[in-house]
Amino acid sequence: MSGVDILISEVGPRDGLQSIATIMPTAAKKQWITALAAAGIREIEVGSFVPATVLPQLADTAELVAHGLTIDGLQIAVLVPNFRGAEHAIAAGAHKISIPLSVSETHSLRNVKRSHAQMLEEIARIAQLVNALPVAKRPHFEVGLSTAFGCSLEGPVSESLVVQLAEAALAAGCHEVGLSDTTGSAHPVQLRRLITKVWSAVGKDKLCGVHLHNTRGQGLANALAAIDMGISTVDASMGGIGGCPAAPGASGNIVTEDLVFLLESMGLETGINFAALCAARELFAYAMPGTELYGFTPLAGLPKGLEIT
Ligand code: ZN
Repeated sequence: MSGVDILISEVGPRDGLQSIATIMPTAAKKQWITALAAAGIREIEVGSFVPATVLPQLADTAELVAHGLTIDGLQIAVLVPNFRGAEHAIAAGAHKISIPLSVSETHSLRNVKRSHAQMLEEIARIAQLVNALPVAKRPHFEVGLSTAFGCSLEGPVSESLVVQLAEAALAAGCHEVGLSDTTGSAHPVQLRRLITKVWSAVGKDKLCGVHLHNTRGQGLANALAAIDMGISTVDASMGGIGGCPAAPGASGNIVTEDLVFLLESMGLETGINFAALCAARELFAYAMPGTELYGFTPLAGLPKGLEIT
């Protein structure tokens, strides 16, 4: 990571948009991505290579990857549900590929229609494909351990199963694992305990990032707990967009703008310019009228005397 203390990976264009029914026009998505990058965001998850019939909102992912690749220094991440998606991601030239391995097998079957054994097989096939590429063309391949802190279908999730799946995913050839609080149920003590367990099993360098949801308002507390431990990449979405359309008031990922304020006010460098980030937020609001945007700092403004540039 160059020149920043914490890498904020912006997942709004994927995690945020995927639960919003109104399709954002491709041209507006490109402008938004450009504005986010201009604000200093270094990594953006621009979409997911799922069939358009499943998620019409993300049908333009290949075009967004191509657009993102024209922006200097921007890391382009994509989600893939399976091997086929990974083939598309590699063909498009994405820098980073993430695949969800849900610790709750019930959630895995519902989300990607595969059991743990089937997902691990898929991960091994993708790893083979990725690692056969010349180093310069090889995307970073991460497995996101989703529902790692609890599942709305199964309830509590076994921590030893999280550790086992982290080990199995790395043994299958992925480069790194991430911990995802898909349902927004984690608390800081649980987060610290789980990070410690996974680190002692696979090594600190194999778990560098967390993906948090703010469903119950614990997102920033969890982010801080992870950062205090030494986690260096945190996913966030501009305006905290996303969440469950069936649960009004439930917000999506942690809010990028508030996370930037939290980190920068503590003296941690994110590389982000706050005013430019707010301009990207306004651009999104204009393109997607009626979409609820969250976050306190954009409304309150920065405290007098603090500049984030
Ligand atoms: Zn998510």
